[in-house]
Amino acid sequence: MRTRRSTTELLVLLLLALSLALFLTACGKSGTPPPKGPKAKDLPSYQVATGVDLDSPTFRSAKSRGRLIVGTKADQPYVAAQDPATGYYSGFDIEIAKMMAASLGFGADRVEFKTITSANRETSLQNGEVDYYVGTYTINDNRKKLVGFAGPYYIAGQSLLVRRNDKSINGPQDLAGKKVCSVAGSTPYQRIVSNYPKATAVAYDSYSVCVDNLISLQVDAVTTDDTILKGYAAKVPDQLRLAGQPFSKEPYGIGVPRGDRTFRLALDDAIVAHEQNGDWQRAYDSTLGLSGVPAPPPPPVDRY
Ligand code: GLU
Repeated sequence: MRTRRSTTELLVLLLLALSLALFLTACGKSGTPPPKGPKAKDLPSYQVATGVDLDSPTFRSAKSRGRLIVGTKADQPYVAAQDPATGYYSGFDIEIAKMMAASLGFGADRVEFKTITSANRETSLQNGEVDYYVGTYTINDNRKKLVGFAGPYYIAGQSLLVRRNDKSINGPQDLAGKKVCSVAGSTPYQRIVSNYPKATAVAYDSYSVCVDNLISLQVDAVTTDDTILKGYAAKVPDQLRLAGQPFSKEPYGIGVPRGDRTFRLALDDAIVAHEQNGDWQRAYDSTLGLSGVPAPPPPPVDRY
């Protein structure tokens, strides 16, 4: 047996020890927020229905494809976020999407998520790129001319995210002369443009770009649903805060192709079933609930 290591072996060992030390220091770096996202082990699993058959073109094409394609967001912590390292999506909307899939007879392993920005939601449903869309999608009459909506399954409200040390913004009444960032094709952006014309509205494709711009002093506030903003604030609470109270109602629906009524009503049934069997509550608690707000009662589904 050899007892003495070669210089090369010693060097390799030293390098390994050094990189481990560096890695551990990086993990515990002060100011680095602990990873607080939903943990896979805490998420509920949903009973997958068997023998489902629907006279629905959307359902039929998913069935023959062997999997569902679901549109969502990728950068909204607690709601719908994709881990860049693993590609894994998590959040309340992701859980809602999985519940719907289970009721349609598809296990989570047969759901393919696709990131679609706010501005591209309607076209992605119209051209069949996705079977349904779950991603902080407000139901309103304008959108109903283009797509169908199951739900609502949750009601959010438009809010403001500002830098923690900026005491000048405490509600939408303080936005005159301020640069306010939101996302193109979203209801909050539209509301700022129409109702708060003295604010300078700036639009990007995603809210995380707005948040980067807020931190780097390029804009004064980010506006969108409280659900989304709470997730960003929770990531860097020493730098960001929500200002004032929500100033709109954003009922979240599941977007479906407009003509496919059977599919839409099947998803309405699925929402009610998962609210009644406790899945909705468990999903909320293990995702959005992590931002500190207990689950409100789910809103009544609006079948039309
Ligand atoms: N709920 C709003 C909307 O549907 C804002 C969030 C979003 O852009 O997804 O426009």
